[in-house]
Amino acid sequence: MSSPSIRIAVLHFSHETVTFLRNDTTIDDFIYPGSPARGEELLQFDPKSYMGGFVKMAREFDGVELVGIESPWWPKTSIGSGWVTNEAYEAFAGRMIAELEDSDPFHGVYLSLHGAMAVRGVARPEAELARRVREVVGRTAFIAATFDLHGNEDEEFLKHADMAFAVKYFPHYDGYLQGERAARTLVRAIRGDYKPASATVKVPIISPTVLQWTGASPWMDLVQRALTWEAREPDLYVNVFFGFPFADVPDVGMTIQTLTNGNAELASDVARDMAATAWRQREALLNSTRVHSISEGVALAKQAVQRGETPVVLADHSDRSGSATWLLKEIIAQDLSNTLIATITDAVTTARLKAEGAKAGDAFDMEVGGLVDESAGTPVRVQGTILKAVEAYGQFWVSIRFGRDNVLILSTYLVQIMEPFSLLHMDLDIGAFQVMAIKSRVHFRRGFHDNGFARTILLVEPPEPFLGTVRLDGLPYENVDLKRFYPYGNPAFPK
Ligand SMILES: [Zn+2]
Repeated sequence: MSSPSIRIAVLHFSHETVTFLRNDTTIDDFIYPGSPARGEELLQFDPKSYMGGFVKMAREFDGVELVGIESPWWPKTSIGSGWVTNEAYEAFAGRMIAELEDSDPFHGVYLSLHGAMAVRGVARPEAELARRVREVVGRTAFIAATFDLHGNEDEEFLKHADMAFAVKYFPHYDGYLQGERAARTLVRAIRGDYKPASATVKVPIISPTVLQWTGASPWMDLVQRALTWEAREPDLYVNVFFGFPFADVPDVGMTIQTLTNGNAELASDVARDMAATAWRQREALLNSTRVHSISEGVALAKQAVQRGETPVVLADHSDRSGSATWLLKEIIAQDLSNTLIATITDAVTTARLKAEGAKAGDAFDMEVGGLVDESAGTPVRVQGTILKAVEAYGQFWVSIRFGRDNVLILSTYLVQIMEPFSLLHMDLDIGAFQVMAIKSRVHFRRGFHDNGFARTILLVEPPEPFLGTVRLDGLPYENVDLKRFYPYGNPAFPK
């Protein structure tokens, strides 16, 4: 005997938008081989993350039919582009809604989201998508979503959707797990075995992402408390959104969401407990990570090398375009040796090198990086020898040896190096360098810190408060009043 069929529509629409970047995220940025995708192609897109977990778990239930609705994958600019144009949002959301309308009815909808998408003219893009989906599928269908903990969300999303599952860790280790939970809870809800009752509490804390590593207290304590609540109460789910401060949108800041099986009081109690826990630790949350100026960081790196405390990671956390040259400039000025700089994003130079057929052994003498906006600084002249030039992962990569055993890698787009072995396509064992200068805020800790690999870790940012700065009050917000948030004002804890 087979169970009655359950039809679930699957949609994906994600971006983490740095609205202070000048280059808008356009329709074209979402269109490339493989994106948009529909049907099985969409369902198989990201097998190790949210989508993979959702699909695997949903298919463990009898009679579940998943329908992949045409959806764009992440834009090819990744997180290196600004405001999503209204045209792009309307084009893709519009097609999703039209396809849902033209389909047979659905019992459920899965929205694979990030939460920090910022769209011109749409204040809360994820909640707006949920609202439009609800209009099509009606009150009897269930809508479940997965989120990145950097999502900027408030109570609006769960007014339209029933369930949300956010990753707990930063680096985000548990996307697949949250996808699995979304699938199981959605199927249970459709079968009448789970009656979503949720609560949302905004916590007036705004924090730069570089401070939010969950590998150490006090951020780790927030994760642990959420896990403890989930362990204590069957069918309870706790989301702690740290928020993404580089999107100039009205729902920035920290948010707690809880989800229970028909127990609104429990949802409210746990949400308030989590919010109060975070609020009590607000000072430590903002002050547990040290960020150095670039000149100080490079000097400290040099001292660490002299003491033999290598490898050293120098992470310019603030570079949001990938093109920033501040750290490269300082490495040259202070004459560091045996240093890897990975990467400087330079679309123009890499395109030119590709067109010229650049290859290993060629002499290199060009200005690289900078210019895309003031945060990227000025181009830096590098003279050396090309080690490798290769097309990989949808972009053109060039490695150049220069100075005293230094290697610079140019890329077409912003690249966050997260693991010492992630540059194997460049034939580089990056663990062999004494110093690694990378562009990452927290994600690098998965491969350099959580495993004890790097002996010295130095986070740096330029002296000016550029768009990825920890000094958020240096940013030109138009839709956010920082005084409503700790540490920039003295907000009252929400009653
Ligand atoms: Zn994130």
